[in-house]
Amino acid sequence: MLEEYEKKRHFNKTPEPSAFDSRKCSDKPIFVVQRHDARNLHYDFRMELDGVLKSWAVPKEPPKEAGTRRLAIETEDHPLAYADFEGEIPAGEYGAGTVEIWDRGTFELLKREEREIVVVLEGDKLKGTYVLIRTKYGKGEKGWLFFRKAD
Ligand code: MN
Repeated sequence: MLEEYEKKRHFNKTPEPSAFDSRKCSDKPIFVVQRHDARNLHYDFRMELDGVLKSWAVPKEPPKEAGTRRLAIETEDHPLAYADFEGEIPAGEYGAGTVEIWDRGTFELLKREEREIVVVLEGDKLKGTYVLIRTKYGKGEKGWLFFRKAD
């Protein structure tokens, strides 16, 4: 699942973790949101599923409250070690720019289907029930909607 991640990066040039870096995390699955000031500023939402970080690029800040839906574009799986990554990806490399951890925490998986994922996030900024639903908007089959569910 990490072939695409490996293929896009030169690990002698970028400080990002290789696909073989392992990371022991908490008993509960983890999520992270990385603010990525690249060519276009976006927020990478990643959560631990199937032993990797399933990843989505969210063009605007993820909503803390219910009522705002964000487009989330599915991107390649990342290794678990990526949840700790912050730093500068050098110019010319894939994703060149600054990565900062914007939020992190654990989550509980409530539902996982082909077109819908529901989780309870326990982060510092994102707390509550969040939904990812596949949408026809966005690039091909990669577009999802991401939002917080009203309590
Ligand atoms: Mn990114």
